[in-house]
Amino acid sequence: MQLKAPIQYVKGVGPTRAEAFKKLSVTTVGALLRYYPRAYEDWSRVVPIREMPENETCCIRATVCHQPTKIRVPGGLLLYKTSVTDGAGLLNLTFFNNKYIGNQLKEGEEYLFFGKAAYNKYGAREMASPLFQKPHSAHRIRPIYPSSAALPSKTIERCVQNALDSLDAPIPDFLPEEVRTQNGLCTLDEAIRGIHFPSDNKTLETARRRLIFDELFLLQLGLLQMKTRAQTHTTGCVVTRDETQDFAAHLPFTMTNAQSRAVREAVADMRSGEPMNRLLQGDVGSGKTAVAAALVYTAAANGLQSAVMAPTEVLAEQHLRTFENFFAGTNVRTALLTGSMTAAEKRAVKAALADGSVQLAVGTHALIQEDVDFKRLGLVVTDEQHRFGVAQRATLAAKGDSPHILVMSATPIPRTLGLMLYGDLDVSVLDELPPGRQPVETYCVGTSYRPRIYNFLKKHIQKGLQGYIVCPLVEEGESDLVPAQEYYAELQNGAFRGYRLGLLHGRMKPKEKEKVMRAFAAGEIDLLVSTVVIEVGVDVPNAVVMVIENAERFGLSQLHQLRGRVGRGSEKSTCILVSDAQNEEAKARFNVLCETTDGFKIADADLKLRGPGDFFGKRQHGLPALRLADLLRDTGLLVTVRRAAEQLLQTDPTLEMPEHAALRKQTDKMFAAASVG
Ligand code: ADP
Ligand code: MG
Repeated sequence: MQLKAPIQYVKGVGPTRAEAFKKLSVTTVGALLRYYPRAYEDWSRVVPIREMPENETCCIRATVCHQPTKIRVPGGLLLYKTSVTDGAGLLNLTFFNNKYIGNQLKEGEEYLFFGKAAYNKYGAREMASPLFQKPHSAHRIRPIYPSSAALPSKTIERCVQNALDSLDAPIPDFLPEEVRTQNGLCTLDEAIRGIHFPSDNKTLETARRRLIFDELFLLQLGLLQMKTRAQTHTTGCVVTRDETQDFAAHLPFTMTNAQSRAVREAVADMRSGEPMNRLLQGDVGSGKTAVAAALVYTAAANGLQSAVMAPTEVLAEQHLRTFENFFAGTNVRTALLTGSMTAAEKRAVKAALADGSVQLAVGTHALIQEDVDFKRLGLVVTDEQHRFGVAQRATLAAKGDSPHILVMSATPIPRTLGLMLYGDLDVSVLDELPPGRQPVETYCVGTSYRPRIYNFLKKHIQKGLQGYIVCPLVEEGESDLVPAQEYYAELQNGAFRGYRLGLLHGRMKPKEKEKVMRAFAAGEIDLLVSTVVIEVGVDVPNAVVMVIENAERFGLSQLHQLRGRVGRGSEKSTCILVSDAQNEEAKARFNVLCETTDGFKIADADLKLRGPGDFFGKRQHGLPALRLADLLRDTGLLVTVRRAAEQLLQTDPTLEMPEHAALRKQTDKMFAAASVG
């Protein structure tokens, strides 16, 4: 059978299971082989019955003492019980409602049993419904697949095995032999077989390494090529007049050196004749918006329109207000375009963009919808890049005559990772905060300090200032609704009776959230009780106290982002981390925050302290989906991969050589999948 053969022809699949596989996006033999296990049962490490660790899954090698006996229990349930021994210890086994057990387990024969060990109240060892197989079975490490009711893991396992057995030839390898050997990788055929049915842990590691390498390599090739394509491209949006000096005179402040440098770098791009593709990275509060405004102004002076895209309506509105202030008294006309505007409002804005009477459109995703036409779009700015995909960036780029693109991000990303994520972009860094900014004073206290914290908040509120309280986190999968509401009610009816409190949580509709945020920005709310939904980038300079409950549950970078919501004005700001965690790790983490406000240092410390974990949380970074690779865990491999990709592209920049055809197809496929949806 061939890789592209429909899955239903695999032995054991058939039309019904083929339908079920389709729901998992598995329609061909090739796709089935790429449906990787999510975990493994390790049958290779057998423990003696007497050393079974309680409540842990383990593997036992033992002989069946007697044929299973059937016991009918009230309620119609059938139990089958037997016991097994490994010579030194005895283990009782129970199976539920499995009438085949009697035929499957034979007295006097030896099996491997895999299950959770337990001890009953008399100290006897038990295992309920263990998996079992003959000890000479080849599969010592068995795959566990992401399964569904229609497709249990065992079924998938059998289908994968049948598919592998039916292949006419080894799986063709798209990786050039040279790349493979230079990086000490096994063949694709070995890797695919090894990831499903590894003979031992070492084989599994070798297989994983090869497949992870593949994902990162394709990703890197795609990104590097995007960069090359962008560079060899010409643009119809060349800027000839640099008007940034003129704009600087309009600003109510002097740009920092870092801001001026970023503006210079970007303007040089815009004059070069090639489209700009630049990432503007700067910590919260570093003044990215002013940099963008200088470029918008310059574009307008050259007869080019700009679009600024924000991830939420609140941010879009806020950006619009900021830009309006910057452009007061200039010829730059601005307009807002968001999904929630009425049809008539949208029509008016679209008309103004089409006839060129508006030079700057600020908006949300509505801006990339197809029926928005610009007269002459020359600059696209996206804020908080990680929420926009690579593909969305491409859609925007297609709107004008290769407009310049500026991506702004506050997420401090360690260097190797930045290379990977933004491999197609040039980078400007704002490594300096505007002068007069006082670093946010950060303290870590136990919960016994709460009354004092509340007084501290009240003192500020009485001065007309505002604050945030971030609610205790809930367990993953739980709703944040109840705890947030309870906490809010407790404060409103207790310590903060008579104060104007606002509540913000994840279950609110976007409209309701916006209403609360707007009221907070307008100073109509003194204290905002919130779950972690406080929008990245919200700028309320009058808010000066940030209290974070259960601080030990947050990642360092996340705490830093939250803290960045205060310290945005000239008033001294304070961040209070509330936690009763006394362990060394928690203390070390809080210390980093109390001692530095440098986002990059914090991100690095976060990585070191937490390990690769989920540094990004559930946030999307807009890249093609990776199945096995983890951009944080696999940073070591990233460097190797990048070198290999650069080397290859040096000899064949567009992957045109016939021996790279398969590689090119894989790269295209990966990026095509990323642009769907
Ligand atoms: P961010 O990089 O987080 O998006 P903003 O662009 O929102 O930062 O800027 C934060 C605040 O700093 C804004 O209120 C802005 O007006 C102000 N700001 C920006 N640049 C300067 C500067 N050079 N001097 C003084 N204030 C500045
Ligand atoms: Mg911002």
